[in-house]
Amino acid sequence: MNQRGILIVVSGFSGSGKGTLMKELLKRYEQTYALSISATTRNPREGEADGREYFFKSKEEFEKMIAKEELIEYAKYVENYYGTPREYVEQQLEAGKDVILEIEIQGALKVKERFPDTLLLFVTPPTVEELHSRLVGRGTETPEVIASRMARAAEEAEGMDRYDYLIVNDNLDTCVRIMHEIIQGEHRRSSRNEEFIQNMKEALKRNVKGDE
Ligand code: ADP
Ligand code: 5GP
Repeated sequence: MNQRGILIVVSGFSGSGKGTLMKELLKRYEQTYALSISATTRNPREGEADGREYFFKSKEEFEKMIAKEELIEYAKYVENYYGTPREYVEQQLEAGKDVILEIEIQGALKVKERFPDTLLLFVTPPTVEELHSRLVGRGTETPEVIASRMARAAEEAEGMDRYDYLIVNDNLDTCVRIMHEIIQGEHRRSSRNEEFIQNMKEALKRNVKGDE
């Protein structure tokens, strides 16, 4: 059955482990998923490379991308722009890959509005204490930035129930498996298999008539 890929949005509090999860999911199921690389105006963190974690852009470059409608969606998050380039997403969906956008909630809701069959997944650590300790443990942000990300998490929690599934990232290995199972289950939804259903109906009708 040759099915177009599913567009999947993964959101979650900064520090919930989305990046770690995505890396592991793609490593295990390289042929199944494609991860969209966003454009952003924030500075690269240590170890991040242009074109791998993000396309790092100046504010002017980013605003040009907006004007040329090169982004599916974009949002401002803690003083920086983040957005999803359109072309890669369309190509990969067409090729039958499930495309994952790891984006925050404003962007997620815009994508859902524009493409209603998008699957929305929300990743959370088991507790607030664990969230804080992961942000501190990552060691990439100043205490002020950590505080602003915790404040942003409180705002984002207000939208958690607008997602299709909640994914608690406690044990990483279990979490990767659950995420894969949810997505695979989504492929079996009857509304995503209309062509198969139609063919089956027609073949059965022909069979009853004795044509086959
Ligand atoms: P996000 O992309 O959501 O901001 P990261 O993937 O950068 O989060 O993870 C934040 C920190 O938490 C990192 O130091 C990462 O190694 C750690 N982490 C991720 N998942 C888990 C997990 N299941 N258990 C413990 N620590 C984790
Ligand atoms: P970070 O700076 O930690 O890499 O990302 C900050 C937030 O921006 C995260 O919640 C991340 O999911 C979100 N984000 C990353 N790329 C995009 C994007 O293309 N669009 C939107 N709307 N959010 C994004």
